[in-house]
Amino acid sequence: MVHTSPLDQAGTGDAGGMNIYVCESANQMAAQGIKVDIFTRRANNDHPDIVDLGNGVRVIHLNVGPVDGVTKEQLPKLIPELSQAFKIALTSGDKYDVIHSHYWISGKVAMPVADDLNIPLVHTMHTMARVKNLSLAEGETPEPMIRVQGEAQVVAAADALIANTDAEAASLVSLYEACPDNVSVVSPGVNLSMFTVGSGKAASRKNLDFPADALLITFVGRIQPHKGPEILIRSIAEMVSHSPALRPKLQTLIVGGASGANGSEVDRMKELVQWLGISDVVHFAPPVGREGLADYYRASDLVCVPSYSESFGLVALEAQACGTPVVASAVGGLRTAVADGISGVLVDGHDPRAWSSVLARLLQEPQRRVLLSMGAIEHASHFGWDATSRGTLDIYDQVLTARATQKKNIS
Ligand code: UDP
Repeated sequence: MVHTSPLDQAGTGDAGGMNIYVCESANQMAAQGIKVDIFTRRANNDHPDIVDLGNGVRVIHLNVGPVDGVTKEQLPKLIPELSQAFKIALTSGDKYDVIHSHYWISGKVAMPVADDLNIPLVHTMHTMARVKNLSLAEGETPEPMIRVQGEAQVVAAADALIANTDAEAASLVSLYEACPDNVSVVSPGVNLSMFTVGSGKAASRKNLDFPADALLITFVGRIQPHKGPEILIRSIAEMVSHSPALRPKLQTLIVGGASGANGSEVDRMKELVQWLGISDVVHFAPPVGREGLADYYRASDLVCVPSYSESFGLVALEAQACGTPVVASAVGGLRTAVADGISGVLVDGHDPRAWSSVLARLLQEPQRRVLLSMGAIEHASHFGWDATSRGTLDIYDQVLTARATQKKNIS
């Protein structure tokens, strides 16, 4: 993963679910005795070239390009240089059995190296330009052609592609002409020992200084149009106008930082809240570390994930593991991450009026929320990272076996 580091704080900049995915799977693989090196581009001077996480996982920095100020959009220019540095790093120490690239830029960096060194390449997209471009938020900039082309090249080059869900596997085949035999589905997971019901909602509210009787709806993630924070904000404005009795107790918390290099979206959301006259109801909080986040989920009555597309949506799983029902868009991976009517509610489309009516009804039905909360804990319990890493290791085995068979057939 070259465009963001596993050492970065998730929920701001370019760090999000993929960072968590890579760290958690690496830790699980290491626990099974596998050595994992995670290569990333150096984007700050805080760490040594190699950071040994002490459990068989290392983060190795590729010193390519300026340390500061390279945005994800500018990174494609550095791909050839990154490939060169990656190849040198791979040939100067241990022998690697498999390269697993995450996101298209890393796929492009890894492609020529895997080919030159004859190492199988497994790739996970995490998000795809063609999928995003099919469902953009209003005014959102489409993903550029260079990304679409790059993704298509990685799809053609990889020995195996890992999709988060059946829906993503279908998109790889229909939108990128992936060979169905090369695509496997492995569900992401949730850290079931970190995200738990803990000491319950009341204790978490106390820890965070929230009133015990508040009606709390929370959004967690990077503030970008595609994640739909605007839908939540506008639906809250709808709600206070059609159900004014809810207003005194209603609290909405938006946790997370600016996405990529676009800080202006946070300001735009804050201005929108002011303009809609709901500053007493909607509040913003900076990104929260992993350990602290569970309290925010537990303290919430509902967690809202109004994304326009989502290859999975880890936030939805984390919230459910903490016993909080999720209201999410009925798109992509969220259809798997949330069991509609059992662990939360899936909403079609992005009309704030529809969202406000779903949210208001749930806030007014505490008994239903209790049932959904039980369903949420049960649903999330099926998604441990150990299963993700086992599924991924099976795929590594398959590509290694296929390579060995090929070699035997040639000789
Ligand atoms: N996250 C975090 N702190 C925050 C906000 C988010 O650690 O303040 C984490 C969150 O727990 C989740 C990830 O960032 O694991 C976001 O993943 P998700 O799949 O929901 O969205 P993505 O960022 O991949 O689009």
